[in-house]
Amino acid sequence: MEITMSEHQEVTAKVGWKGRKTISLMRVALRQRSLQRSVGAYLLTLVVSIGASSAAYPSQAVQQMVAMCAGGALMAAAVWAIVATVRLQTALGRNVVLACIMSIGMLIPIVNILFLASHDGRATKLLKKHGVRVGLLGVPRDELHKLVQGACRKCGYDVRTITGPVCPECGTPLPAAPAAVAPAA
Ligand SMILES: [Zn+2]
Repeated sequence: MEITMSEHQEVTAKVGWKGRKTISLMRVALRQRSLQRSVGAYLLTLVVSIGASSAAYPSQAVQQMVAMCAGGALMAAAVWAIVATVRLQTALGRNVVLACIMSIGMLIPIVNILFLASHDGRATKLLKKHGVRVGLLGVPRDELHKLVQGACRKCGYDVRTITGPVCPECGTPLPAAPAAVAPAA
């Protein structure tokens, strides 16, 4: 089943002070995936550039060229990770200005790891609470349908118009009310 964000039927959660903010768990899941990929890309680039810096080169010009490419790739991956952190924070309900200010901390070693772990942990906790599996690379693609209202929890079939007790596609028992698909936080 193709998941689209435009259908306005994502499962939501209430967060923040007195639970006044409603956030889309689909957005949290997608942005967490993006953050984890950006961190993966950064680490990969780091390993490659360390390897490249210790290799032997035919000339100094080539060595400088390789160093420049590695530096550029590292910078790009770091920017991607910072942007992804801001986007995950806003998905979790944080004010965008505050999220940007907080992300300055991403430039400080160790602090950035704590930051990533904290946002990632918050997203994971929230998603798990709503019954989705969260792996090393976030919510797997085949679990994302669970974050769409009115979709069968098991196979993702659109069960909004189904009045029977089970999903016609896979036989999974359906909740009595759509609200039961996603218990509020
Ligand atoms: Zn089903």
